[in-house]
Amino acid sequence: MSATLPSASSSAVDFLAPVFAQYPLEVVSAQGVWLHTADDRRVLDLYGGHAVAALGYAHEGWTRALTEQARALNFQSNAVPLAVRTRAAQRLVRFSGLDFSSVFFVNSGAEANENALKMAFTLTQRSAVLALEHGFHGRTAAAGALTWGAANRWYGFPRTPFDVGFLPRRDLDALATIDTRTAAVLVEPVQGVGGAFDLGAEYLQALRRRCDQTGTLLIFDEVQCGMGRCGTPFAANLYGVQPDMITTAKALGNGFPCAALLMSPRVAQAVKLDALGTTFGGAPMAGAVIEAVIDALEGEQLLANVRRVGQYLRERCQVGPVCGYQGAGLLAGLICSRPAKEVHRALLERGILAGTSSDPRVLRLLPPFILREEHVDQLRGALLEIGAGGAGS
Ligand code: PLP
Repeated sequence: MSATLPSASSSAVDFLAPVFAQYPLEVVSAQGVWLHTADDRRVLDLYGGHAVAALGYAHEGWTRALTEQARALNFQSNAVPLAVRTRAAQRLVRFSGLDFSSVFFVNSGAEANENALKMAFTLTQRSAVLALEHGFHGRTAAAGALTWGAANRWYGFPRTPFDVGFLPRRDLDALATIDTRTAAVLVEPVQGVGGAFDLGAEYLQALRRRCDQTGTLLIFDEVQCGMGRCGTPFAANLYGVQPDMITTAKALGNGFPCAALLMSPRVAQAVKLDALGTTFGGAPMAGAVIEAVIDALEGEQLLANVRRVGQYLRERCQVGPVCGYQGAGLLAGLICSRPAKEVHRALLERGILAGTSSDPRVLRLLPPFILREEHVDQLRGALLEIGAGGAGS
């Protein structure tokens, strides 16, 4: 082979696949809700690393649980029973307060969705799935097939692995599309990437009823909106809907990669030996951090904080370029009167990291659950300074 390899010493070559647009900041450490940058700035993190940093940074209990577990037993496979894995499953089901009887641990949100869909096909013996317009479910073959807009942008597989359809959001009449051929409906009760768009109790309860009529399984993708982000254990609790399955990730591990599929008794009874599998899912370090996250959510009253500060944010931050609000708890969509990207840039210049969404008007906030009113006041001040006007920041 005579191919010329790029020089590793060239600073322009970092060998990372160039698939992610990069924010103009280099983070070297973080504490609480604050990021510290290489050029010595402090940045208020209202984005939480795509909704992951629920407990904030350098959380003592989480760090202790992770390091102690790493010392005690850093890995054993699912072929070996582990008390820490069992405790994590028990804690997660109890935390949910919902009717689940089985948990399958995996590594990422997309993987949790793949397994949920597999269970839906196994149980119903049907081959079609519906999702919602503007929903996001991950980038793997099945999860990507159900992600709105993926086909034209990045799906990358020659065909979808099953029949796929999309329902318009909050459209009660369109629920009639769900029929006895529909294995499952996969839905984010509060859409994250779609702009913190809350589907609401009326729609989700009607969706539950239609699924019951047609024998269709209802899967809530709570990868982003779950684990307390809406101020309740899951958005399912907030909207009074019991889904057949919930998938969750992100905040579940607070930065340690892990995910879970929670199954109702009806789904759980269809799980047979060897039907699902994973090497790293349910690993001891994942189990330890899941326990630590639930300890913190319960012991530090973080759900109450999410509800209180989320409400304060809603009341105080519809100023400057922000003309409306959607979302729940600390999954907040600030609807802007000018492109959200402009507002995002202007906030970063003022030391605040927010998020955007697939809706160009919506600035998406996914802060740690330890956010306080004083941080919201700082955001309000920056929004007032930015103002409703033109492109200037
Ligand atoms: N589902 C939702 C609602 C998400 O927001 C995401 C990621 O952003 C995923 C699934 C995919 O999760 P992961 O990136 O962990 O595979």
